[in-house]
Amino acid sequence: MTLNEFIKAEPESLTARAYNFAKKAHASQKRKSGEPYFNHVAEVAKTLLDWKLDESSVAAGLLHDVVEDTLVTPEELRQAFGEEITFLVDGVTKLGRIKYRGTAGKVENLRKMIFALSEDLRVVFIKLADRLHNMKTLSALPPVKQKRIAMETEEIYAPIAYRLGMQSLAGELRDLAFPYLYPRESRELQSMAGAEYGAREKYLRNLKPQLEEHLAHHAISPQMIDFRAKRLSSLYQKLLRYNADLEKIYDLVAMRIIVETIEECYAALGVVHQLWPPLPGRIKDFIAMPKPNGYRSLHTTVIGPEEKFVEIQIRTRQMHEENEYGIAAHWIYEQVRTGKADPKTTRELTKEIEWVQQLRRWQEKFREVDSEEFLDSMKIDFFRDRIFAITPHGDVMDLPAGATPVDFAYQIHSDIGNSCVGAKVNDKFTPLDYELHSGDMVHILTQKGKKPSEDWLEFVKTATAHAHIKAALKDKDRRLQSRHAPRFTEFKIVAKDRVGLIKDVSGVFAKSHVNITGIHTGKSPSGNFPVVRIQCPVTDKKQIERLMLKLKRLKEVKEVGYQLT
Ligand code: MN
Repeated sequence: MTLNEFIKAEPESLTARAYNFAKKAHASQKRKSGEPYFNHVAEVAKTLLDWKLDESSVAAGLLHDVVEDTLVTPEELRQAFGEEITFLVDGVTKLGRIKYRGTAGKVENLRKMIFALSEDLRVVFIKLADRLHNMKTLSALPPVKQKRIAMETEEIYAPIAYRLGMQSLAGELRDLAFPYLYPRESRELQSMAGAEYGAREKYLRNLKPQLEEHLAHHAISPQMIDFRAKRLSSLYQKLLRYNADLEKIYDLVAMRIIVETIEECYAALGVVHQLWPPLPGRIKDFIAMPKPNGYRSLHTTVIGPEEKFVEIQIRTRQMHEENEYGIAAHWIYEQVRTGKADPKTTRELTKEIEWVQQLRRWQEKFREVDSEEFLDSMKIDFFRDRIFAITPHGDVMDLPAGATPVDFAYQIHSDIGNSCVGAKVNDKFTPLDYELHSGDMVHILTQKGKKPSEDWLEFVKTATAHAHIKAALKDKDRRLQSRHAPRFTEFKIVAKDRVGLIKDVSGVFAKSHVNITGIHTGKSPSGNFPVVRIQCPVTDKKQIERLMLKLKRLKEVKEVGYQLT
C-alpha cells in the first residue's frame, strides 16, 4: 500500500494524523527547488514505509521537520502525538545540528556521536531517509552547500547505512554524492563506462535462458534472476585500484540468482560451475562467513562464452531482503510485524542495539579474519559509555560518560584546559563541573596566563585532564614558592672612604666565585661614611656568613650587614 492509499483507507490512523498535521504546519513553506516543503517530508515517510519500519517511524518521518522548521513547539507535538513521536522527532532534530566540516581524523567520532545521540535506531533510519531525499534534490542548493552536504553524506551517512547492513542505500547515497565530489571524474566515467554497461547487461541477458534451463535440469527453480549494475561511485573506487582498466572489472554488471533455501544456494553454485568454469580464487562464501555488516551471499566469477568473465551472486530471498534493508529487515521489522514486541518496548529494544551484539558475535567468529573492513565496522560498538560533545567549529570530542567542560577543554588542547575559566554549553553558561551529554555544543572560555584550580581534580573524568592539571599545579607551586623565597642577598657595607674600597669589596665576591648582580653606593644616614650595597644571587646561609667574615676583614670597614630579597 502506498502512503496515500493508506491515508485514505485509515483517516484516523497515526500516520494520517501526522500527514495532516505536517501538511498544515508546512503549508506556506517551499523548498529551495520551489516545490512545497511538505513533499519532502512525504517522500521521507514513503521511504520509511518502503523499509517496512513501524508506524511511529513513518509518522515521525512526516513530522521530522515541524519543530525545526515551523512554529510548532515540542510541547504542541507532545500534546498531539505523545512521548514516542516527540522523542523520535527530537532525535532527528538533534542530529540535524551535527555538521561535518571535513575535520580529518574525527570522522569516526562523528559517526559514533550520531549513534550515541540517536539512542533509538529508528532515529537513524529517519535521518537516513531524510538524507536520501535531500541528496536527490541537492541540485537546488548553492554549490558550496552541495559540496558540504555531499561530503557529509559520503563520510558519515553512507558508512552508517553500510554498517547497518543497508548496502543498497549506502551505494545509492554514495552515487548521489559522487558527481558533486568528483564532477570531472563522474562525467568521464559516465561516457567511458556508459556503453559498456549496456553491452555487459545484454551479454548476461543472453546467458539467462541457458542458465535457467540447466538449473531446472537439476530441479532448481530460482525465484528470480536479475542483473545488478555496479554503481558508478564504486566503479570509480575499483578503477583506482586497477589502474583504470575497465576490462579487469568483472562485476560491472553481475547476475543475481535468488533461490528459496541455503541448500539451493550451494546447489545452484555447483550447477553454475558445471556450466561455466570458475575463475580460481574468486569464489566467496559470504553465507558461511558473512561480512561484518551482515551481508550474506555466494559470489563467484566464471568464464562465460567468448571467454568473458561474469560475476554471479547467489542468495536466498531472505538474505536478499536483509542485504537491501539491513538491520531494519531482520530486526525491528520482524519484532513489530509479528507482534513480538509492541511499539512501546521497541525503544527499549533498540536501546539494546542488538546489532552491536551481533557485531560482537561476528568478531568472536572471525577473530582470525584480518580485514580492514571488519575492523572498521567494529569501532562503533563502544559508544555506550562514551559521550560525544562538539566544539563550535564542529570538532567532535569523544569522552567518557560523566565528563565535564574541563575534560572537554583538555581534550582539545592542554593549553585550552590550563587557561580555561568558564564554559558555555549549548549557549548557556554552565559550571565547570557540569556533566556533559552527547550532542552538547561546548564553548570553552579561556583567559591568558590563567592556571588550573586544584578542585578540578575532584570532578574531571579523563586521565589526560587529571595529568595536565597535576603538572600545571606543580609548576604553579614552584613558581609561587620561588616568588616568596629569597633569591638574592643584599650586603650592606659601611666603610671609611678610601681608594680601592669598591675594588676590594668586589674582589671578595670574585674570589668566592659569586656573581655580583648589582652595586649601589651612597651615604650612610649619618652621612659620615659611604655605604656600598652589593646584590648577589646567594641564598645559602653558610655562604653568606663566609662572605660576611671576609668583608669584615677588609681595611676600614666599620659595619657589614645583609638582607635577603
Ligand atoms: Mn528534512
